Amino acid sequence: MEKILVSYQEKLPSETIRPADAEKLAVVTIDGPAGAGKSTVSRILAERLRFDYVDTGAMYRVVAVRAKDSHIDPHDDGALERLCRQLDISFQRDGEEWRVFESGEDLTATIRAPEISMLASKTSARPAVRAAMTELQRRLGQKGRAVFEGRDMGTVVFPKAAAKLFLIADIQSRSERRFLELKDSSGNLTLDRVAADMKQRDHNDQTRPVAPLRPPEDALIVDSTNLTINQVVEKMLDFINKKMN
Ligand code: C5P
Repeated sequence: MEKILVSYQEKLPSETIRPADAEKLAVVTIDGPAGAGKSTVSRILAERLRFDYVDTGAMYRVVAVRAKDSHIDPHDDGALERLCRQLDISFQRDGEEWRVFESGEDLTATIRAPEISMLASKTSARPAVRAAMTELQRRLGQKGRAVFEGRDMGTVVFPKAAAKLFLIADIQSRSERRFLELKDSSGNLTLDRVAADMKQRDHNDQTRPVAPLRPPEDALIVDSTNLTINQVVEKMLDFINKKMN
């Protein structure tokens, strides 16, 4: 089984990627708000390009799970920084899916709970958490040939990426998509609740002082509201091919 390690303990080169290298190394970034279809599209893009896929939202969600387990106050930067430095996160491909582990524990289902989404939105705004995750993501980027999905991949983590994408959709279709994904695992969830949580997370992500969610200047912006997944993927592949050739 293919495995990608994201850990301070792992013997990755200690230097982070130099900004200029992201282009040469064929790093592709895809950012955008929750529920626009980034994960589905990023996985297909990675498959088609034969690239690795890195879900950086999952990394922020792992931080939230472990902060909760350790009863860490989401505003306590010192404790969050110590926590981040102990994390041993890895991704493993399992057929179509990527599973996420921390210190050997499979957290794939745990990180998707609505409560964790909200906590991740809080802890991810903390400068200590952003600095730690940015460093890990840049170390991963050194391998090259990867699609990095998140909120600040093209603006902060890889400002010199080979191709940058930004995926949006209206709030109605984003919350419907997320509701369908979650309703089986969270019985008492309503569409209104999902939409309200999503608006709150959008607001948190867009207004935080460090690495706020916004489109990179040189990104292709795609609105998926009235497009099929295939149409989104084809538009993006077209752009990526032009950028990389
Ligand atoms: O993408 P996903 O919804 O799984 O991300 C969970 C949370 O992690 C987001 O609401 C956002 O606050 C945070 N995040 C981030 N930067 C990223 C990826 C995710 O702040 N690059």
